[in-house]
Amino acid sequence: MAVEKNKHIDVSIVAPIYNEEDSIPHLVKKIHEVMSVSGKSWELVCVDDGSKDKSAEILAALQEDYPELSPVYFRRNYGQTAAMQAGFDHAKGDVLVTIDADLQNDPKDIPNLLEHLEKTGVDIVSGWRKNRQDAALKRNLPSKIANALIQRVTGIYLHDLGCSLKAYRREILEDVRIYGEFHRFIPIMASQNGATIDEVVVTHHARQFGQSKYGIDRTFRVVLDLILLKFLLTYMNRPMHAFGYLGLALLIPGGLLGTYLTALKILGQDIGGRPLLLLAIMLVLMGVQLIGMGVLGELMMRIYHEPHGRKQYTLKRKTPKKTAPKKEAAAKGTKPATRGKKSKS
Ligand code: UDP
Ligand code: MG
Repeated sequence: MAVEKNKHIDVSIVAPIYNEEDSIPHLVKKIHEVMSVSGKSWELVCVDDGSKDKSAEILAALQEDYPELSPVYFRRNYGQTAAMQAGFDHAKGDVLVTIDADLQNDPKDIPNLLEHLEKTGVDIVSGWRKNRQDAALKRNLPSKIANALIQRVTGIYLHDLGCSLKAYRREILEDVRIYGEFHRFIPIMASQNGATIDEVVVTHHARQFGQSKYGIDRTFRVVLDLILLKFLLTYMNRPMHAFGYLGLALLIPGGLLGTYLTALKILGQDIGGRPLLLLAIMLVLMGVQLIGMGVLGELMMRIYHEPHGRKQYTLKRKTPKKTAPKKEAAAKGTKPATRGKKSKS
């Protein structure tokens, strides 16, 4: 039996899988248990990220018993982010929920996330593993520091960006593509496009089967990714400003030093042995290079957007609710200051 093609799907659950053969049967069963009583049409998109154990075969076998299961198989291991993106590309639901396949997230939390999304009307509900069951020193502490750093750099105050259990409205994900290990930053990239975010506390369990695919080195990669994220958020559409400012900051002092040394030379002094000359040359060269990088960045940004018909802005899919202008404002012919919900008065 297979899920009807073209059937409307309310919720797609996306689970990236790498070597989780022992967890998969429990995961599929638990998700089936909670979703079959949710009153929603749903599918479970399991993306096998080139597992070396029997994960792919187990998924294929489970498909017989669970028609809602819709597996995707990678040829090789591309990483959790690529697996998640493939899940998004494959999913048909109005709402997409991401979850880890190792049972550390609890499928019982999915209805809470969905309810919160409906009740509050936000675009993203992010899980917060308040009682995280991972190694305190090796995982929880670096994660807390990383989250604090991310909050400061991005201005978005979520406790636990690394929690995979999140629910997104489909339209939000259509405007975001993730590469490298950027899956944790989806809410931040989406909020840049105007998405609203809220968080709910979720349960977290220790790993029962298999082992974590990540070590402490991930913390350093997160820091590097954060630098890239900051650049993308602030300078994606104006790279000349990032490189150009830096370039000018070096070029101007370099130029002044060069002029000073040239003046000394004209007055008959020997400047050949002065370290200052070396500094002036270095500053000018680096400044020119950085400004050149800015120009190249601008060209690349245009190549990124234009041939694919991408826009540097995103539009709301739904027209805002109609709200009559306030009487005085209408009389004066001015526009209302805010739009949105009708006031109760
Ligand atoms: N995962 C994946 N590809 C990878 C590494 C991990 O699809 O290359 C999946 C993994 O199977 C799990 C989720 O991503 O479902 C989170 O991985 P893990 O539990 O190892 O991370 P941790 O919970 O230790 O942060
Ligand atoms: Mg895990």
